[in-house]
Amino acid sequence: MSRVSRRDLFRGVVPAAVGVLGLPSLAHAVQASSSPYRRPTLKITDVRTAEVQAHGYQLHVRIHTDQGLVGHGEGTDAVRGGVPLVRQFAQFLVGQDPLNVDFLFERIRTAGIFAGAQAGQYVAALSAIEIALWDLAGKALGLPVYQLLGGKMRDRIRIYCDSQTEDPDDPQAAAKLQQIRDMGFTAVKIDIDEAADPMRWDRMNWTASNAEIDHMMRKIAFVRQAFDKRVDLAVDMHGRYDMTTGKRVAKEAEPFKLLFLEEPVPAENVNAMRDIRESTSTPICCGENLFLRHGFREVLEKRAADIIMPDLQKCGGLLEGRKIADMAHTHYVPVAPHCVVSPIGTMASCHMCAAVPNFLVLEWHWIQRLELWRSFVREGEIIEKGFVTLTDRPGLGVEMDEVAARKAQVPNTPWFEAAGGTRQ
Ligand code: MG
Repeated sequence: MSRVSRRDLFRGVVPAAVGVLGLPSLAHAVQASSSPYRRPTLKITDVRTAEVQAHGYQLHVRIHTDQGLVGHGEGTDAVRGGVPLVRQFAQFLVGQDPLNVDFLFERIRTAGIFAGAQAGQYVAALSAIEIALWDLAGKALGLPVYQLLGGKMRDRIRIYCDSQTEDPDDPQAAAKLQQIRDMGFTAVKIDIDEAADPMRWDRMNWTASNAEIDHMMRKIAFVRQAFDKRVDLAVDMHGRYDMTTGKRVAKEAEPFKLLFLEEPVPAENVNAMRDIRESTSTPICCGENLFLRHGFREVLEKRAADIIMPDLQKCGGLLEGRKIADMAHTHYVPVAPHCVVSPIGTMASCHMCAAVPNFLVLEWHWIQRLELWRSFVREGEIIEKGFVTLTDRPGLGVEMDEVAARKAQVPNTPWFEAAGGTRQ
């Protein structure tokens, strides 16, 4: 059908059409014929999964459409056993317009309020779906995902390297830290919790002894001196210890001027986290095991953290992450998202990090899987000198290299197979 120009409409077509169509239909016809833009019309046809074991366990989701476009998302940690959940979510997706991302997210979330949709596995599996929908929406509209989240505030995303190296007695430590220096990171993180510390007197109790705390400070000092002062150092305690230990470690670490001390106590008792924060000048960070905006509300309202760290691959995805970041921004709290996933999920997180004003730094945790990391997407290495530079490619902007990724496939699990067991 030939296109009708705006001039044609007002010369002759309009008067004729008024009588036939009536004004509302006419307005629609004018809009449709005068705009070069056509909103894509897509329908979801299938949702497929693959499972990967890398740094932790990741659930990859692909959402297929009737026009051949496919969106790819990734969830982590709490998604083990999430495949049946994704199959269940598919009933809310197949036949739907994938561009209504937040509607589909909210529909699935509210459908499960009696089935665990407040946190955990349900929200983590939903996060993978949500990210796949954004990838799909970006591809359908020809725009990068950050554009759909409000546009970018920065061109590149600062990454910190979880060094997995902090033991001064490790003969390999110096070489490993040199490698991280050579890679150009501007921030690193180490772990100081140690279940196997020989000075722990009880397997179950997590009150650190004087000797354990000395070991912790020795690790911090060792890594601190290995880097230029301009490189920030963060320290993780993995939410294992009790209040006494948390306060002592935060206080003794003050001279090191850490970027943050992460979860000195478990995150679920917000009052305890706040008490530690109020006892020290060391910035306290928490949130990798909190879910949705609701999980972060009390932390922010009670001023329990200096920095929050939502994991976008499990807390609800990219728009939920943006909403959490915006809520934090009203408390003048920055976000430093937790991130342990492949380059696909990491790039997804980068799109959200680009769109919010209070982004601080994003985690990267694959230093011990460099070969897999660099081959996992067709675009190759995405981190350069400690930063990810965003591109204008539509969607997430990275595509899985299936040959490389399948090296980490969880044995005996489907690999993006349709319900009938076929791959299109
Ligand atoms: Mg942590």
